[in-house]
Amino acid sequence: MVTDGIAQKRFEELRRIFTAGKASHAYLFLGSVNQENEDGIQGLAQILLCQAEGEKPCGTCRACRLLTGGSHPDFRVIAPEGGKIKLEEIRQLCYDAVLNPYLSPCKVYLFKRFETLTEVAANAFLKTLEEPPPAVYFLALAEQELGVLPTIRSRMQRVQLGGVLLQHGFGAAEGTDLQVSDLSALWRQAQKLSSQDREQVDLFLQGLQTQLRTKLMTAIQAGTAPVGLMRGIAAVQQSRAYTAANVNLRLLLEDLLLTLFDELGEMNSPNNN
Ligand SMILES: [Zn+2]
Repeated sequence: MVTDGIAQKRFEELRRIFTAGKASHAYLFLGSVNQENEDGIQGLAQILLCQAEGEKPCGTCRACRLLTGGSHPDFRVIAPEGGKIKLEEIRQLCYDAVLNPYLSPCKVYLFKRFETLTEVAANAFLKTLEEPPPAVYFLALAEQELGVLPTIRSRMQRVQLGGVLLQHGFGAAEGTDLQVSDLSALWRQAQKLSSQDREQVDLFLQGLQTQLRTKLMTAIQAGTAPVGLMRGIAAVQQSRAYTAANVNLRLLLEDLLLTLFDELGEMNSPNNN
């Protein structure tokens, strides 16, 4: 598994946001169900649940100890049973979510394999997600974004943890025509750039767009229709639109480059050739 430290960096970033008291009500984490990701998400939950006045999580208050011991009354894990997260489970959650927390300042629900939510369960969850009770947080880990209904997805903050995509992208691209080394160089460049101003980032994206367009023209002239490349160009275009808005540039660029790894890797995989 190639994670390239992306999950780690994302969690560091989020820990800062959570400790600053600026967490959103619902997050969709995209990545493998593994110890690193589960620990990272539980660490975020601990920040929310910790009762300390000062630095969170303190690790010593009652909430911290109960969470570590797996018996915090305001923390619930929802995992698939028989391969699915079912309606009954979501009904209970929606009922429980409106009740006040027992111990901590809030309640946290952690979903594992969120993409296994059945459609009927997802629709039942939608109303609670749209109008969440004030002190309730949903942290959901999904391995496949496409398994999550768009109506649900659009109401959650999306966090790409990277493991799944990178494993796929590098694996598919290895030993093919795709110059992964170029993308790695772009990645490093993006890392340097993202602390610069928005104009610089837009110029970088403009250059990237031109480069990909040239590749596309060459491919079309050669009689192929590289869907991955087209999607890559669309992703760059979308990112350029976002740079004008008040977004985190580093996250934006990382997301974009992950998309490119994925799309361009797929283009070169044996299945599509
Ligand atoms: Zn604590």
